[in-house]
Amino acid sequence: MTSNRVQLRPEIAAIVPYRQGAPAAADAFKLSSNENPYEPLPSVLAQLSTHSINRYPDASALELRTQLAERFGVTADSVQVGAGSVAVLAQLVSAAAAPGDEVIYAWRSFEAYPLLVSSAGATSVQVADQADHRHDLAAMSAAITASTRVVIVCSPNNPTSTVVTDAEFRDFMATVPENVLVVLDEAYREFVTDPEAVRGETLVDQYPNLVLLRTFSKAYGLAGLRIGYAIGPEYVMDAARAVAIPLSVTELAQKAATASLEHENELLERVSRINEVREQIVAGLREQGWAVPTPNGNFVWLPTGAATDWAAEVFRSHGIVVRALGEGLRISVGEAESVEKLLRAAQEVVASRKTN
Ligand SMILES: *Cc1c(COP(=O)(O)O)cnc(C)c1O
Repeated sequence: MTSNRVQLRPEIAAIVPYRQGAPAAADAFKLSSNENPYEPLPSVLAQLSTHSINRYPDASALELRTQLAERFGVTADSVQVGAGSVAVLAQLVSAAAAPGDEVIYAWRSFEAYPLLVSSAGATSVQVADQADHRHDLAAMSAAITASTRVVIVCSPNNPTSTVVTDAEFRDFMATVPENVLVVLDEAYREFVTDPEAVRGETLVDQYPNLVLLRTFSKAYGLAGLRIGYAIGPEYVMDAARAVAIPLSVTELAQKAATASLEHENELLERVSRINEVREQIVAGLREQGWAVPTPNGNFVWLPTGAATDWAAEVFRSHGIVVRALGEGLRISVGEAESVEKLLRAAQEVVASRKTN
């Protein structure tokens, strides 16, 4: 029998569509998307003029790439800018991996990874995190085969907020063949406080197959404008540019990003305030008995196991919207005012679990 549905790629048709959850109550704290709770800086807003919206943006984002290149000590062609770092990652994956090829990443990790790999037609190889919720880099290295094209390392890891150490990362790189692309996703780099954590900027130029991925969405608070970037070998960045959808990074986003770099000190001050709130949350949760892995992003991981969906509802009933992800809750560090409610909700989860 012939179907009257159009023929789609089966691996794409099999993807369960993402449906946004019910909108939170107006007075609830939205701690489900790792967003920055602060409004844009006035000094950044002042740079945004809407008078050229009828014009296309600078397709090459040259000013921003030049600014970033100076910071990382690389050429402007070693920088690729995209409409969010997820867009750049999609370019890298589709430039390197085709049907039959494998992309390795830890699991649990960022929810976008499996989708990007499937859209490229490649195969995901998910390597289980260790019991302490950190990447198992030895197992990731052992999973590399002749079909491996890309390995994605996420530090701090979304959603567990754990880091890969500098020593671990260097040991890992020593085992990876130089013709396999390694992407170090550092979306939360600015929130890292662990002195032993890997820091991508110290690795630039040390590995011919390494690309760093950074974003303006989290620490810089520009999630809604969509802008992120990668730093890596020129020919790899050229390949990413070759598969990019042209002109998708708007002029407003480029201007906001350059202004944010110029006012970085003010933004990093906010990051330390967010980190103070993070430490308050961790201390409170640990006091309640939660085994929270030490967070280095602007979010914490609450291992709620089989009770995860129910626990998310308890948080919601307290006016706190969190992200339920299989075996735990990812809770973003938001407004200081949210902490009390958050801890009360977590306490209720502990109390009801004990009586059940
Ligand atoms: C938020 C996030 C990104 C960045 O997303 P944008 O597309 O830049 O908004 C990338 N990687 C991880 C792991 C993230 O959590």
